[in-house]
Amino acid sequence: MLGNVKGKVTLITGAASGIGKHMAEKFAEYGSAIVIADLNLDSAQSVADAIKAQYNVETLAVAMDVTNEEQVNAGIKATVAKFNKLDVVISNAGIQTIAPIVDFETSAWKRLIDIHLHGTFLVAKASMQQMIAQKTGGRVLVTGSIHSVEASKNKAAYVAAKHAQLGFVRSIAEEGAPHNISANLICPGFVRTPLVEKQIPEQAKTLGISEEQVIKNVMLGDTVDGEFTTLDDVANVALFLAGFETNALTGQHVLISHGIGM
Ligand code: NAD
Repeated sequence: MLGNVKGKVTLITGAASGIGKHMAEKFAEYGSAIVIADLNLDSAQSVADAIKAQYNVETLAVAMDVTNEEQVNAGIKATVAKFNKLDVVISNAGIQTIAPIVDFETSAWKRLIDIHLHGTFLVAKASMQQMIAQKTGGRVLVTGSIHSVEASKNKAAYVAAKHAQLGFVRSIAEEGAPHNISANLICPGFVRTPLVEKQIPEQAKTLGISEEQVIKNVMLGDTVDGEFTTLDDVANVALFLAGFETNALTGQHVLISHGIGM
């Protein structure tokens, strides 16, 4: 069956909000145990508790700053201590910073690259070590973006990091294959999460246009139908990739964008 994650253990970073949270709910609905990894333990715990109550699956919450190797390793260790395995990992934690290159604060550049790229490396490294040790293979998914394949103004750090994630996913596909580990990049268009709501007024200010124009022209101007991608669209693709049974689908990027980037 496609999208079969029943009985699997799935860890998702940045899962206390937005896309990560909805993927956690979707995977739980289909019978996977869920580990919610996020910066704040209380937020992660309340999401984990709600999912457990609604979908009747086992959950765990871990405090994890993905840029902190000790916290990443401790989160994977806690997962294995509770569930004895890790089948699916989704490196999803992320932030956005809007500024033209010439005004981009160096510290903001470094923080963004650290979370998206270094964090994805740390999470994948620890997860692959576990997947190889348990000899059952695994599925690595990374939340990239349409900005993994094209650029926009005022998002240079994000564009650079998301492009780099594509290269890294291809590297995981190469090195994971002998261990039955596949890796794929999920590339949403614009989804109305807190990350996107925050950038609407920021883009309006930086570009000197109205918020309506940001939505219509900047965010949705290149779609085929003027529609936002939904949380469910993204979670369904993640479910499909995580449950895909062979390694025919590996090293790929899937655009979920109403045609942006096609
Ligand atoms: P969101 O702000 O709703 O959620 C992001 C989560 O990541 C938050 O819970 C936050 O606490 C967590 N996080 C931030 N820094 C972290 C860190 N250092 N360690 C652990 N967790 C951390 O945003 P979202 O829109 O759900 O974004 C999730 C992912 O989807 C990001 O990688 C983002 O780049 C990507 N994405 C989003 C969109 C969109 O339109 N919303 C489009 C394409 C890609």
